[in-house]
Amino acid sequence: MRAQVFHGPGDLRLEDIPVPEPAAGEVVLKVGAALTCGTDVKTLRRGHPVMIPRVPTVFGHEFAGTVTAVGAGVRRIREGDRVVAANSAPCGECRFCLGGRPNLCEDLLFVNGAYGEFIALPPRLVARNTVPLGRSVPLARAAFAEPVACALLAVERARVESGQSVVVFGHGPLGCLLAMLAAARKARVLLVGKAGWRFDRVRALEIGECLDASATPDVVAAIRAATGGRGADVTIDATGKPEVWEQAIEAAGRGGSVVFFGGCAPGTSIRLDTRRAHYEELTLLGTFHHTPEVIRRAVDLLEGGVLVPDGLLTHRMGLDGVAEALALMRSDRALKVLIEP
Ligand SMILES: [Zn+2]
Ligand SMILES: [Zn+2]
Repeated sequence: MRAQVFHGPGDLRLEDIPVPEPAAGEVVLKVGAALTCGTDVKTLRRGHPVMIPRVPTVFGHEFAGTVTAVGAGVRRIREGDRVVAANSAPCGECRFCLGGRPNLCEDLLFVNGAYGEFIALPPRLVARNTVPLGRSVPLARAAFAEPVACALLAVERARVESGQSVVVFGHGPLGCLLAMLAAARKARVLLVGKAGWRFDRVRALEIGECLDASATPDVVAAIRAATGGRGADVTIDATGKPEVWEQAIEAAGRGGSVVFFGGCAPGTSIRLDTRRAHYEELTLLGTFHHTPEVIRRAVDLLEGGVLVPDGLLTHRMGLDGVAEALALMRSDRALKVLIEP
């Protein structure tokens, strides 16, 4: 089979490798849809010791497909089933898993291999984080389950509710998914981005009000003005920039919640007005990754048509287009690229 194999930073090769055979507990899928992700761009540039501990490995981590072979002992999933799998599976035994926070699992097993014609899912992923799909949901939409789950965990932790004002900083695919999920909960959504090709695309999706930070001298003042001077009920950073983390705190109103969704570079610190954090009872939340339960709720939202993220797919390519797709992502000329192996 053909696959895009990652050999190390900057070294991605389209290769012919054997179709995987399922070992006991494993399932092999024919990948029907894989999606590019900002993490791929970062990983290709500098590697990723957590998500990709060993090289070479087939690249890509957002995918959905059809089961072509099942290993001994697999019961819940059969040949011919259409499924989506997360890109990781928690151990189920550590104190975080037992405490109901498996996204913080001390032994999270990461799985890569979306950019290949076939992928073998390891037993733990099959058992904990592989979800069968109904007939009606297109694989390209189901493949969004993993990024949607990351965004959904953030929206759930912030307890976004109908009627609240929610500000999302960042107009990348995850900023958009966060905004779409908040809008699906009937919140009033303000999406803060920067002028350019991608922001024009995002505007056209009509997810919420859009604020161009590059044309706004004081973004926090603009958000305060848009919320009757109060500030937002919930603010979410999806940029991973420390100055924007600070804006997210400043733009949150009395009693508001601030979600730190975008990861900053290691060693980064931010300023915090302790008076506001205390007297205005701000809730400051980090969110990371997803859990098996949230993956299932994400699949439900996609299957039920509550969330239709198809508009984020700006390009569509075959396996040989992966390098070009990631270059488009890197130069802000794509939101997400659908790869059909
Ligand atoms: Zn991703
Ligand atoms: Zn664990």
